[in-house]
Amino acid sequence: MAQLLALRFGLIESLIARLSLQGRMLGVIACVCVALVGTEVWQLQRVYDANIQQTEVVTSNTARSMAEQVETTIKTADTIVASLVGRVEAEGTGPEARARLSGLMTSLATALPAIHEMGITDSQGNAIVKSLTVNPAGLNYGERTYFHYHATHPERGALIGARLKSKIDGSYNITVTRRINHADGSFAGVVVTSVSLAFFQRLFDQMQAKSGGVIALLADDDTTTLARSPFVASGADGPAVSSELRRQMRNPRAGSLTYTSGIDGVPRLGSYQHLSEFPLTLLVSQSAWDVQRGWRSELRWHAIILAIVVIVVIVLGGRAVEANRVLNTLATHDGLTGLANRRYLDATIEREFRRAARSRQPLSIVMIDIDHFKGYNDCYGHPAGDDCLCAVAGAIQGCLRRAGDLAGRYGGEEFIAVLPGSDAPRALAFAERMRLTVRGLALQHGRSERGIVTLSAGVATFVPGRSAGSWQVLLGDADAALYAAKASGRDRVQIYAPPQAVISPANRARAGGLQAA
Ligand code: GH3
Ligand code: MG
Ligand code: MG
Repeated sequence: MAQLLALRFGLIESLIARLSLQGRMLGVIACVCVALVGTEVWQLQRVYDANIQQTEVVTSNTARSMAEQVETTIKTADTIVASLVGRVEAEGTGPEARARLSGLMTSLATALPAIHEMGITDSQGNAIVKSLTVNPAGLNYGERTYFHYHATHPERGALIGARLKSKIDGSYNITVTRRINHADGSFAGVVVTSVSLAFFQRLFDQMQAKSGGVIALLADDDTTTLARSPFVASGADGPAVSSELRRQMRNPRAGSLTYTSGIDGVPRLGSYQHLSEFPLTLLVSQSAWDVQRGWRSELRWHAIILAIVVIVVIVLGGRAVEANRVLNTLATHDGLTGLANRRYLDATIEREFRRAARSRQPLSIVMIDIDHFKGYNDCYGHPAGDDCLCAVAGAIQGCLRRAGDLAGRYGGEEFIAVLPGSDAPRALAFAERMRLTVRGLALQHGRSERGIVTLSAGVATFVPGRSAGSWQVLLGDADAALYAAKASGRDRVQIYAPPQAVISPANRARAGGLQAA
């Protein structure tokens, strides 16, 4: 593992080392920008997630509390139903008993706002007593589902019915019913209590603080919404609950969900709570748009600030990179001619020498000197001398052919061309082409016997395996060849040849090693 890490770091280090300073600076700027953007994205993601978590907490607390209230209300209704069943079974439904029951039921329904109505039917479904009307004669509930259920099932427990429309005032309610038995256990009728869905509606409306939110009571065994805040006008069955929502409410107790409302098409997130004793579910949700309202405005501001910071970093970083590039150019190039300066030339020759030795490729150096340049200055003045230097520099540069070739001003009116991969004939051809190009400029020179500006050049080639020494020796060889070119009349190219063993040791380094081109 440690070895792998060290290998990775080594790889990264060598990659960085290969980059230029500008490349590294650009890399740092890119890293800073990526780090800034990454931090912001991470931060905003955290806020986004925290909003969702907070919504889940708030909606699940509300759902639990609402579910408790609904459950308590229905239990109260059922307690009344159970006690009425007991009284009817004990006292019967004779005229006196009916009068007592009617008074009791009317006062209970009046005292409890959640109770819409109470009633007792006989075994045929005929209303015997109703809390909402003194004379229930003629009202029959035999077709109601709950009546059919109790008539055919001996169970004595409570039955929570579906949403029903009142036959008396048309309001919507859910029923809590129980079976009445004769003494022999046969079916005697039903006690019904209607719990007002409008009561739940008001309860939910009071809790509804945020716009875009929903509190709803859903029936588990069919797919209807019994009560909902905000209210939606709907048919007799109530708004349908989407299958997507049903699917998400599978957990038998409670949970959180996200869904798109089938009623108004709003994406919402929230929580549900199944009632523990009745087949009903409380759903509390908030609009996803509202939940992230604060986050969106934060996102907008962060994006603006981040964009400004990134732009500033890029602009300042870009200027620093450009300033560095200019400084680098100043440090490595000659101010007058624009060619590489001596320091850059030395570094290049040293580097190319090592590369040539490694790759077993030749390396040629051409040292160039303008003939009688002192006389040119004396004749035409220093500024004209500068122009002449620039013209010659341009000509030398123009003669380079390969991408790796480099021309530089070595000092005064001396230039050097570095030709990696060029053997002696190729370098000689270059030097000759350059000499003729400068001649072709036909720059007038009154102090030269030729009448125009000319130059002399010395060529030396390093051949791996054959040449010995160092880059300084190679440079010395080119200088020696140039010296020989000057000595033999100027306006010519001289190639340096390694001294032969037969030549006397005294002259080997100089005269013996030179051949005229
Ligand atoms: P040779 O043919 O032997 O090379 O003779 P030369 O006169 O060219 O050589 P010498 O070394 O005597 O003179 C070089 C001159 O180059 C001297 C100096 O005034 C001139 N020189 C050096 N640098 C510059 C420069 O930047 N601008 C100008 N105008 N002249 C320069
Ligand atoms: Mg000189
Ligand atoms: Mg000269």
